[in-house]
Amino acid sequence: SFAALWVDSSEDNKPVYNLRPTAIDELGEGDVTVDIEYSSLNYKDAMALTLRPGVVRKYPMVPGIDLAGTVRSSDSDAFQAGDRVVLTGWGVGEQHTGGYAARGRFRSEWLLPLPEGLSARDAMAIGTGGLTAAMCVNALSKALPDKVERPVAVSGASGGVGSFAVALLHAKAAQFAGGVAAVTGRASNADWLRSLGATEVLSREDVHTTAPLQKEQFCGAVDAVGGGMLASLLARTQYGGSVAACGLAESPSLATSVFPFILRGVSLLGIDSVRASRQQRLDAWSLLATSLPADMLAGPSITEVPLRDVSGHAEPLIEGRVRGRVVVATGGQ
Ligand code: NAP
Repeated sequence: SFAALWVDSSEDNKPVYNLRPTAIDELGEGDVTVDIEYSSLNYKDAMALTLRPGVVRKYPMVPGIDLAGTVRSSDSDAFQAGDRVVLTGWGVGEQHTGGYAARGRFRSEWLLPLPEGLSARDAMAIGTGGLTAAMCVNALSKALPDKVERPVAVSGASGGVGSFAVALLHAKAAQFAGGVAAVTGRASNADWLRSLGATEVLSREDVHTTAPLQKEQFCGAVDAVGGGMLASLLARTQYGGSVAACGLAESPSLATSVFPFILRGVSLLGIDSVRASRQQRLDAWSLLATSLPADMLAGPSITEVPLRDVSGHAEPLIEGRVRGRVVVATGGQ
């Protein structure tokens, strides 16, 4: 047996955490068994850990929407024992037991080889949050001209998706020549955001507007926040610009007008990491493996916690009090 963190719901609907020895047959099925070294804490994991609706349909569950480690055994031709692998999305940690365990069983189609040059911990410092940021940046990169002069905005900049989006856009400064405008609710993070590559730091209030159109301020945006923030970013995007929408930290609702679309030709690019194609994932990992500064994965943007402590970080993350990314050491060898 091996350790796995099970989350269940008590009779009065409170989360119950049980880190206990687990047998492989208790886990979701799959043709590849993986020794998991690291997982991470994403917004979705925090929702699963705190029993918020919309992520896990049936408790008890082992959360953890992403993981990295080594193949222990495989019935698939695509992988063999000893292969280093990474997995993000595909409903793992939601409908299928996830990464908060020292071992897991998964379908071979869900696994990717760990990108060259990245450790399992690096891959989870990136995790679903970083991968989604890379997908947003690749989508903007394709949609926009080779060189843009206005800054590109990143909302929820202090979060997992946002902090990686800032660093990746900065790394692509040849195209995003107008710089990166980090939008945050936490002014205290301004210096850190500048150290990641932000050329300006704006408060949420600076960007908020109820007007359908504002002065053209940004060439586009990565939005992890939704709600009024997404509507405001659309209103401030320049003619022909694009906004990549991937999150709902403020709200899932979107009250906007058609004016940015029909008067300025602005595009809204939807980004989903859970069922993204293999090619989209490979493109995103390739951007991450080649353009992140090394201190992004080792420095103050990353907090490491053991499996037994991860639940304590869930509520702070949902309340927007966590900075950067949280990696979870799962104990698999
Ligand atoms: P996170 O680390 O909690 O980051 C979210 C950030 O949003 C916070 O750090 C905070 O940044 C800001 N924020 C929080 N509450 C807010 C509010 N009420 N109004 C405005 N801003 C607020 O979460 P994450 O893991 O980066 O995920 C961000 C979002 O993307 C989540 O909604 C998540 O579900 C979604 N997501 C989607 C995909 C996909 O496949 N589409 C993949 C990953 C994540 P500041 O303090 O700097 O403002």
